[in-house]
Amino acid sequence: MDIPAFPNYIDGNWVDRGPGFENRNPANTSDIVGRFAKGTARDIEDAACAAANALPGWANLNAPARGAILYKTADILDRRFEQVSADMTREEGKTLPEAKGEVRRTINIFRYFAGEGSRLDGLLVPSERDRVHTFAFRKPIGVVGLITPWNFPSAIPAWKLAPALICGNTVVLKPASAAPLSAWRIIEALHEAGLPKGVANFVAGSGGELGQALVQAAPLKAVSFTGSCQIGNRLHQEASKRRLRIQLEMGGKNPTVVLADADFNAAVENTVNAAFFSTGQKCTATSRAIVEDAIYDRFLEALVERTRKLKVGDGMQPGIDIGPCIDQAQMDTVLRYIEIGRSEAGAPKIGGHRRSGDGFDKGYFVEPTIFADVTQEMTIAREEIFGPVLAVMRARDFADAMRIANEVPFGLSASIQTTNLSRVFEFVYRMEAGLLTVNLPSAGVEYQLPFGGTKDSSFGPKEQGPAALDFYSDYKTVYLKY
Ligand code: NAP
Repeated sequence: MDIPAFPNYIDGNWVDRGPGFENRNPANTSDIVGRFAKGTARDIEDAACAAANALPGWANLNAPARGAILYKTADILDRRFEQVSADMTREEGKTLPEAKGEVRRTINIFRYFAGEGSRLDGLLVPSERDRVHTFAFRKPIGVVGLITPWNFPSAIPAWKLAPALICGNTVVLKPASAAPLSAWRIIEALHEAGLPKGVANFVAGSGGELGQALVQAAPLKAVSFTGSCQIGNRLHQEASKRRLRIQLEMGGKNPTVVLADADFNAAVENTVNAAFFSTGQKCTATSRAIVEDAIYDRFLEALVERTRKLKVGDGMQPGIDIGPCIDQAQMDTVLRYIEIGRSEAGAPKIGGHRRSGDGFDKGYFVEPTIFADVTQEMTIAREEIFGPVLAVMRARDFADAMRIANEVPFGLSASIQTTNLSRVFEFVYRMEAGLLTVNLPSAGVEYQLPFGGTKDSSFGPKEQGPAALDFYSDYKTVYLKY
């Protein structure tokens, strides 16, 4: 069978200069999803120049007209919903229902920000001088670089592209090498929706080379990055040298606090969902369950029993709960942390191995794994693993649970399971995280609300919802004597 080829998109042209790289299905590595053009620093420079040339035309187009193109993009993706969802499962490994949920979110994100085209607000306030009219309005910041990870290969590019474009910026998108097709599908839809040439550019290829070229590209004014802390911090240093505006969304070590008064079965369900769905490869996934002593043993047992029922396999098959890790390197990282966990906390209560035999050998499948009696100083309680591994920790009481929950450098998401309203409010005010859930899984956010963390997890303004506009626009203030 012919392997489909996916070129880069620069200045409205499909560009493929030279050797490419393969995108393989992590559930079955003999399935090649596509061959992508491998961009170079020159492609990034060309893309940034094209974006700079396109900027005046796009920025001066009225915002509802920009919105009309985003609405059309959403409609195109909607018509291809089944195909785009299946593509995502093949390239990323998440289950088909999860992929459909993500593609639906992408479509909603485009419609939401298309609507912002008719709402983009400013400030109109009274002056303290007579016959002076004062107002401030939003203007675009210019050419923006967008760098995205593989774990939400469609929604994250969407929640950067859509607000950037509606505000009148032009962009260069560098998607994750492990899952570039889902982002490519959005670019294809933008192209077909009539986006003027140069407004959005797509360059796939090595993050090290392209990322460096992007922060050095002369026209660039801002970078929005989602990915690991290691790369994000490096990018921050580079971007600061040029005083680029920067937004970083990075790793987490998210807790779910389970109190003795919780709705027990719902708490089990929420913890398992947050820890293992999407193979634990969500930045908002729970990796620490901090359980009050009074129910610890019973909760641990129930957690293990519920986890035993999860089905691991190819996400295209019906009934599968957990797909593969994204690639060999990520699987090796997860297995290495499992060995560290074994040496720190003893044998896991469940899981702890790569799945093999029965068609599993061609994929990167790891069993959902639970370590019990994990304590704060252990590596598996402190470092992000980004896989299906849960550390269960014992807390004396609520105060102890809060201390443990906050004692990490990360602050992305956190959850509490309790029926005590006063504890809920204490948690809401004292938990050091940007995204909080109560009696829900720690993962599972909506596009119309601000998204992002605190502490080492994030830097800069929040993404999504109305907050996204603050990163992608600047105010111009006017004092007008009449
Ligand atoms: P990653 O390795 O940091 O890569 C993210 C992106 O950066 C990719 O496009 C990558 O390109 C690129 N990149 C690599 N080296 C670079 C460099 N030197 N300069 C500029 N860009 C570079 O992260 P990942 O493995 O894709 O994603 C997993 C991480 O993302 C986890 O830590 C997770 O917590 C985090 N995440 C955070 C959020 C959030 O909102 N807080 C959401 C999702 C994921 P290549 O793919 O070509 O290497």
